[in-house]
Amino acid sequence: HSSELHCIGCGAAIQTAEPGKLGYTPRSALEKEEIICQRCFRLRHYNEVQDVSLNDDDFLQILHELGRTDSLIVNIIDIFDVNGSWLPGLQRFVGNNPVILIGNKVDLLPKSTNKGKLASWLKKEAKEMGLNPIDVLLVSSEKGFQVREAIERIEQLRNGKDVYVVGCTNVGKSTFINRIIQETAGQENVITTSPIPGTTLDMIKIPLDDGKHLVDTPGIINDHQMAHFISKEDLKTITPKKEIKARVYQLNEQQTLFFGGLARLDYLKGGRRPIVCYLANSIDIHRTKLEQADHLHKVHAGGMLQPPGKETLDNFPELIRHEYKIKEEKMDIVFSGLGWVTVNEGAFVAAYAPKGVGVMLRKALI
Ligand code: GDP
Repeated sequence: HSSELHCIGCGAAIQTAEPGKLGYTPRSALEKEEIICQRCFRLRHYNEVQDVSLNDDDFLQILHELGRTDSLIVNIIDIFDVNGSWLPGLQRFVGNNPVILIGNKVDLLPKSTNKGKLASWLKKEAKEMGLNPIDVLLVSSEKGFQVREAIERIEQLRNGKDVYVVGCTNVGKSTFINRIIQETAGQENVITTSPIPGTTLDMIKIPLDDGKHLVDTPGIINDHQMAHFISKEDLKTITPKKEIKARVYQLNEQQTLFFGGLARLDYLKGGRRPIVCYLANSIDIHRTKLEQADHLHKVHAGGMLQPPGKETLDNFPELIRHEYKIKEEKMDIVFSGLGWVTVNEGAFVAAYAPKGVGVMLRKALI
């Protein structure tokens, strides 16, 4: 019965089973004469967008549609989970449309982070993923940092065209768009919004001054995100809530650091030296001898070494080893979605992350 109903806002088929998916409507709202899905309801009454997620096939469809538009594409990624944030093939799909890359959540980084270096690192990473953004911006949607600047830049670069905002789930796409709505409501010459959604099937359109639109596209669930391997509880533990602080360890050769049970760093060779860890303060770091590390992990993963907690341990991917010889003055080894460690020249290390979660090397940001 409910499959015959459609949302009067976006036209999606109404369903009551899966919150966060297209057309979701609480059962209690079905009594109404005109049925509106929860997403449209929120937009209409609270000026607030809500992310809905899609599977790969539906998302490919969206990407195809982007290629047919004449627009500016804004790709939001989580700078704390760069590896898990990419939309593979985006450049190919967008055709000739320019892409702005926005790294969100900069508020999580220590204040001393070199933002210029971070932006150029991001640009380089993007190139390696086949993406050629015309600009790279760093913002905090939650704190409002550089959001106004981002809006202005979008306004400049869109050249009177529509703007499509794309990103995978959890990068902060909704938070960013809601900020835009907040920041620009009641202003002229910047993006203005209207509480009445004019929507296509699965995209929410926010009217701009000139009759064009800012379009919120659904997010895709990216399997590479650390967030998908752990429980909601554990995600809270690993996600920093505020600026992360450096934790310094003086390590001898053949010592190991465990970051909960999620990741590990073996310091193999290079004499006694400091290793600086930048992770959420709520993640415990355990130091041990390398020769005991495997055993320690086997016995204590899910217990002393957590997250992951016991309940997710069974489905948790194995840790994969990546070796690095540090050849430049100071480098960061980034555990995507978790944080990074800074190691200086001459060190020989092995970094472990769950299979599927990226480990990357970059010039130190601090
Ligand atoms: P979406 O799935 O891409 O729409 O992401 P959301 O907007 O729902 O945000 C996902 C999570 O990231 C939420 O817990 C947000 O509170 C958080 N978040 C979003 N933007 C920021 C930010 O700028 N800084 C921080 N620290 N957290 C953010």
